[in-house]
Amino acid sequence: MFSKGVPRVLLLCLAAPWIVLWTVWRFARGVRARGRAFRGALSSTIRCPAGHANTLDGRWACRCGATFLGYAFAPCPLCKMPAGTISCGTCSLTILSPHAHL
Ligand SMILES: [Zn+2]
Ligand SMILES: [Zn+2]
Repeated sequence: MFSKGVPRVLLLCLAAPWIVLWTVWRFARGVRARGRAFRGALSSTIRCPAGHANTLDGRWACRCGATFLGYAFAPCPLCKMPAGTISCGTCSLTILSPHAHL
């Protein structure tokens, strides 16, 4: 009655929804991870090693002497160098730029 190919086709039919679900799940996980990284890079606060939240929008003094308003790790308008670190406003610990490794 049945040819040799039928059980394999049946198996494939059974497995296909799971393969699709797994692919969708993997894809959703990847999108969520990318979303987190994206939000982290653009978030307006950063935590020092002791856990104090520091705003990244404000008034910043560059090593070259320029003072500018805006994002803490934005390139300086004078020397074009982005800050590699800022100091925690609460405990003065050094906070590394989230972009320093890029
Ligand atoms: Zn500068
Ligand atoms: Zn701190």
